[in-house]
Amino acid sequence: MKLSAFEILQNSKVVAKLKQAWLDSEPNVSGGHEEGGFIVIDDLGFLSVVRWEKGTQNEIILPVHQNCSVGGRAIVASFHSHPNTGANFQQEPSLTDVRAIRDDAELKGEFYLGELVISQDNLYLIEPSGQIVVIGKTDEIFER
Ligand SMILES: [Zn+2]
Repeated sequence: MKLSAFEILQNSKVVAKLKQAWLDSEPNVSGGHEEGGFIVIDDLGFLSVVRWEKGTQNEIILPVHQNCSVGGRAIVASFHSHPNTGANFQQEPSLTDVRAIRDDAELKGEFYLGELVISQDNLYLIEPSGQIVVIGKTDEIFER
């Protein structure tokens, strides 16, 4: 079953991991670095988060995710942060972000919702089609 963003964000452990990734990316006017990961589901329907290696200021590399899975678990979503809040930095998903999701043949699994992009103000979703949707206010989702 494909979960909606709303259903995924009802999972408090997943939300805590997203928040931790955001904090780990050291959000600031500049000097932050991207963090990200996969949200995966096991055969029993339990969600967990597999973090990626730390990224750079405006880039992060995905580990191998053949057939939209990692460690035998299906990827239901991926995420990365946009921690640099200064005016020189784009807060919303970039064209590069959109292309990376849309054109990744290994991110076309039947359960894959898309990539969440965590910014200071908004939580975005890049759908596999490349469409960008605002999921909600980051503050409200993280309850910070
Ligand atoms: Zn990005």
